[in-house]
Amino acid sequence: MHILDERSFKRVESVKTRDYFKNCSVLSGKIICGECGSVYTRQVRKLSGGDRIYDWMCARYREFGRKTPNQYKPWVSNRTSVRFSEEGCDNITIKQETVYKVLNDIKCEYFGSDNQLIGDTIGLLKESIERCKKDDTMQKEIENIEYEIERLNETIRNLTENMLDGVISKETYKDMVKRYEEERMEWDSQLSGMKGKGDKVKTLEDRIRDIEAALNEETLEEATISSILEYIDKIYVYTDRFEITFHMDKVLSVENHELLKELESSSRLVYMIAKEDMKYKRNALDKTNEIIYNAIKENSKIQIQELAELTGLSRTTIHFRIQRFKELGYLGHRTEPGRKKEWEIYRELDSGIERVDAG
Ligand SMILES: [Zn+2]
Repeated sequence: MHILDERSFKRVESVKTRDYFKNCSVLSGKIICGECGSVYTRQVRKLSGGDRIYDWMCARYREFGRKTPNQYKPWVSNRTSVRFSEEGCDNITIKQETVYKVLNDIKCEYFGSDNQLIGDTIGLLKESIERCKKDDTMQKEIENIEYEIERLNETIRNLTENMLDGVISKETYKDMVKRYEEERMEWDSQLSGMKGKGDKVKTLEDRIRDIEAALNEETLEEATISSILEYIDKIYVYTDRFEITFHMDKVLSVENHELLKELESSSRLVYMIAKEDMKYKRNALDKTNEIIYNAIKENSKIQIQELAELTGLSRTTIHFRIQRFKELGYLGHRTEPGRKKEWEIYRELDSGIERVDAG
């Protein structure tokens, strides 16, 4: 019975391959509630289509519920199912997607040309492929053992013939058969031990599919996130922003000057979370964004620092706004090997410009 179409099958495969990396999320223990200091833990939501969405929420909230009614959602707070407790926490729940987006942005902005990071990412992908190959090695071992068993069976058959022909005595025959059978039993138990690991033994086709899946986009993203997390100490979540701290020794060791400059003043990178983002809405652009957009359009090599000076906003805010532009499909980066990255305009600014409170 053929249930899955090719796309769904690939998705299933990629989930399997991602499990090769680690059983738990790469973000485990990294996200901390800025309000109460508890860790954020992950919860899986299964959509009707079978897709999974991961949400991260404060462990304290998860255990004790909210501390106070939600002023933004009084209709929710009034439900009897909503728990309130002195030990609770009011901090927000965030989608994993949102965290990944911020981490990807940090990677593009500060580690875009970082060979160390690219190397790490490739290393993680190789690891995943190695795991696929290990299965291959196991298959070969099984084949070897099966060959050994067959060889012993053959020897025993020959002995029987020799015995019947009177070449060897019955006593010698018994002794030798006993020895060979003991050897065969050893091989047999080894073999069943290996086969006991069941689905790890795969056909060549399965293994190729695993390797393909290891190279798909989702896994690449996971590898990128893992390698950037090497540099990140903690991600603190507040109701309106992320504050990100780094392992300074690691940042110093790769001499990431851009990032060091940014961390000089506050030692944390701040990323605002738009209210619209929490409600998972997409929004349009305001006047300042128009200035940013036009400046990029005029000069495809303009730096974040220059945009900050032009608008009087902080680099972080500029960063946040550009993130919105990218999300909405207005612009992106053109990167060619050996060249500094350049902006690329994808579409014209819409006329219906709304105000965005970027914080
Ligand atoms: Zn909390």
